[in-house]
Amino acid sequence: RIAAVDGDADGGVHAFLHVAADSALARAAEIDAARGRGEELGPLAGVPIGVKDVLTTIGQPTTCGSRMLEGWVPPYDATVVRRLHEAGLVVLGKTNMDEFAMGSTTEHSAFGPTRNPWDAERIPGGSGGGSAAALAAFEAPLTVGSDTGGSIRQPAALTGTVGVKPTYGGVSRYGLVALASSLDQAGPCARTVLDTALLHAVIGGHDPLDSTSIPAPAPDVVAAARAGATGDLTGVRVGIVRELSGEGYEAGVLQRFEESVAILREAGAEVVEVSLPNIVHALAAYYLILPSECSSNLAKFDGMRYGLRVVPEGDGVTAEQVMRATRAAGFGDEAKRRIILGTYALSAGYYDAYYGSAQKVRTLVQRDFAAAFGQVDVLVSPTAPTVAYRLGEKLDDPLAMYAGDVATIPANLAGLPGMSLPCGLSDGLPVGLQILAPQQADDRLYRVGAAVET
Ligand code: GLN
Repeated sequence: RIAAVDGDADGGVHAFLHVAADSALARAAEIDAARGRGEELGPLAGVPIGVKDVLTTIGQPTTCGSRMLEGWVPPYDATVVRRLHEAGLVVLGKTNMDEFAMGSTTEHSAFGPTRNPWDAERIPGGSGGGSAAALAAFEAPLTVGSDTGGSIRQPAALTGTVGVKPTYGGVSRYGLVALASSLDQAGPCARTVLDTALLHAVIGGHDPLDSTSIPAPAPDVVAAARAGATGDLTGVRVGIVRELSGEGYEAGVLQRFEESVAILREAGAEVVEVSLPNIVHALAAYYLILPSECSSNLAKFDGMRYGLRVVPEGDGVTAEQVMRATRAAGFGDEAKRRIILGTYALSAGYYDAYYGSAQKVRTLVQRDFAAAFGQVDVLVSPTAPTVAYRLGEKLDDPLAMYAGDVATIPANLAGLPGMSLPCGLSDGLPVGLQILAPQQADDRLYRVGAAVET
């Protein structure tokens, strides 16, 4: 299927940056043999999976969609990847993404964009457009993504697939190349809520190699998905986020959202409207916090330690000149934009005004969520304000592109789990419903999501 539809940067879906066909077939044969010997295997043993190219993989390149890491093959597996192998999944290859996970369209990939399988002229969302498009094009039944500000949920919405950003600390970040360490979470992507839950159960849970990993048992998301599939939500309180379901959203998106709310009511849920007043500042706070953290995290790409090294011509070249030439050549425009913005926001004299204020807003957003979850079990909104737009449409207008993240970013600022699942079409293109839950209540996403899906 990948050979038939994936193509490359010039045509086709281009969900994959690297396909490990030989090792995948060999691994599949091993699993078959184990099954033949009557060995006990997990529920996903033998199932093929794509992994976003931001997770390290022994023997497979890990580029993060950047020239900076072109050709780099990591010496270790991310914990998520190790758990996939241990559960017998077959890693097909690495999926396309915006450079270092910065973007909402996959157009910032240094290796060319991914195209939306619903309409090749349109974006699949981002940064994990490859992981979502691979599902929608039936190139893989499962993929792993990462979500720092929506990069699992927004592509899921725009491709008619399911994606979950787990509670911060619920899935190990060991081997997940950092964009913004206080916001990053790897998570499961699939075509159904139950498939997503099965994958979540494999990759989730405490990892001593990640100091922010939660040292507690993970919620039973598979049982929750099965419970929700009965379609009964009696006793569940659902809050519609007033600030995320009105102005600025396409009419077709709001219509599908309202139909989903009606389904929730029919399933027996009690639906109320709640207000999170500070959420309107979340986008601005995120676009200061993220560049600040990313300017620090990306400093390691200095032409000395990994990947690309550009040495200017001439004698007596200094280390600083090598770093400068490497970064000038290795980073794309969006990465440079955010590194410059972040170093500015963190600089002496501006720190309090920008980074400091953004952190205060982050606290206010967290308090708003805490208050809302005193009244309801889950919150719902559309995942994205629009359906998939055309390739190139917002590429030269970063603020317009950032605005599309308005509904997904608050969960990252507060460390909350969030799901996007399909809720119908508008103009023939998929619309996503977002469900948010309190920290460590990821199971609620699955219960409610499965009930809406059926
Ligand atoms: N659109 C967001 C950004 O560009 C998504 C980031 C992410 O989740 N990796 O920052």
